Amino acid sequence: MKTSSLIARTILDSRGHWTVEAALTLRNGIRVTASVPQGKSTGASEAHALPAARAVRNINKIIAPWLVRADFNDQDALDAFLVRLDGTTSKSKLGANAILATSIAFARASAAAKKVPLWRHLRTIAKLPARKSAFAQPRLFINVVNGGLHAGNNLAFQEYLIIPKCRTIAESVDVGTAVYHELGNALVAAKGKTAANLGDEGGYAPDFKDNLEPFAMLQHAAKKLKLDKKVDFGMDAAATDIKDPALGRPGALMKAYAAIIKKYGPIYLEDPFDENDFEGFAGLNAEFNGEGGGTIWIAGDDLTTTNVRLMERAHAAKSVNAIIIKPNQIGSVSEALAAVRLAREYGWAVVASHRSGETNDDFIADFAYGVQADGLKLGAPARGERVAKYNRLLEIEEEGKKGGR
Ligand code: PEP
Ligand code: MG
Repeated sequence: MKTSSLIARTILDSRGHWTVEAALTLRNGIRVTASVPQGKSTGASEAHALPAARAVRNINKIIAPWLVRADFNDQDALDAFLVRLDGTTSKSKLGANAILATSIAFARASAAAKKVPLWRHLRTIAKLPARKSAFAQPRLFINVVNGGLHAGNNLAFQEYLIIPKCRTIAESVDVGTAVYHELGNALVAAKGKTAANLGDEGGYAPDFKDNLEPFAMLQHAAKKLKLDKKVDFGMDAAATDIKDPALGRPGALMKAYAAIIKKYGPIYLEDPFDENDFEGFAGLNAEFNGEGGGTIWIAGDDLTTTNVRLMERAHAAKSVNAIIIKPNQIGSVSEALAAVRLAREYGWAVVASHRSGETNDDFIADFAYGVQADGLKLGAPARGERVAKYNRLLEIEEEGKKGGR
C-alpha cells in the first residue's frame, strides 16, 4: 500500500472543542479520512492526547513524511512504527490523537484497497478466535439519561443505559428509540418541558428526585410500551468523578449499587469505584458474581483504559468480568485489538465505546462489529455525532447479511 499523502487538520468535536482529522491518500487514488473523539471523564492512565493544533503539526511535519517514504505492509507494522517514533509510554511526544488518527486512516485505506467493508478488514486482522454468543452482533448500550460530568443536573452517576435484548441491530434500534422517546414524554409530563433537554451524549438530563429515579422511570416507560422483556438496564457510575459527599462515605457506593441491583436488576455496571480501587471492584464482583462467574457485567473503563498492563492487574485482582474498549484510550488500532484479544482470553465481556466528545467518524461501529464485541456503547439515538454510529451499524448489518458474517 503506497501512501501519496497524509494531511491533518483541526476540526470541532460535539462539544465545540478542537480535535484532529487526518486525510490519507493512496497512490492509486483512494482517499479516506479519520478523526478522533475526546473524553471528559477520562481515566488518569489514558494515552496522552496533545492539543489538537500540536497533534496536527506532528502528523503533517513528522508522521506524514515517514508514511510517504516507507511502505507499511500491515496495521501492526504501522502502529509499532508510530509507537517507536513517539518513544514514550503515554504517547505524549507525538500525541495519542495524532497516532490514532493516522492509525484509523490507515485501517480505512487498507479496507478500501482490499475492497472490503472496514469491519470485515478489522475482523481479519484482529486474529480473534471464533465467538459463540446468543447475540450474533454487539448489543447496543444506549445512554438515555446523562448525569455526572456529562450533564448540568444533580445525578451523581454518569450514564443510565438501556440494552435491548434483540436478535438484530435494526430491531434493537427500534426498541431503543421507542423507550428513549417514551422516557422523554414521561419526563416532560412529570417535570415540565425543559426536562427533555439533552446532555453531552444526547440523553435526557433534568434533575431527578434521587439517583434511582431514572431507573424507575425507564422501567415504567418500557412496561407501558410492553417492551420490558426486550430491554435490560445498565449504568456507568464513572465513580472517579462522583462529587456527592454522601456517596463518598465508606460503604455508601456499595449500598447504592446493592439497592439498584435488588430493585432494577441491571445486567451491567461500569466503573463502580474509583479508578485505582481494584479491590473495591473485586469486592463487588465477588458479592454479585461469586466464584463461578455471574450475571452482572462489572466493567472497567477508567480502571483499565484499554491498556493490557492494567488489564493484567484487574485480572489478577478479579476486579471485573467485562471491559470497555476505547481506541483513543490507548492510541492505536493494533493496541485496541490486542486489548480485545486479552479480554477474550480472560473470558471477559467486551464492550466497545464511543467518547462523550465525538465527531461524525463512525469507526467505532465497524470496530465493534468487526471484533464481534458483546456490546457497543453509543450514547442516545439523537444528535448527529451519535446517530452517525447507529446509522453505520444499520448499514453494516445489511453488509453482513449480503456477504455472510
Ligand atoms: C465513559 O465514561 O464511558 C464515557 C464515554 O465518557 P468519556 O468519553 O467522557 O470518558
Ligand atoms: Mg465509562
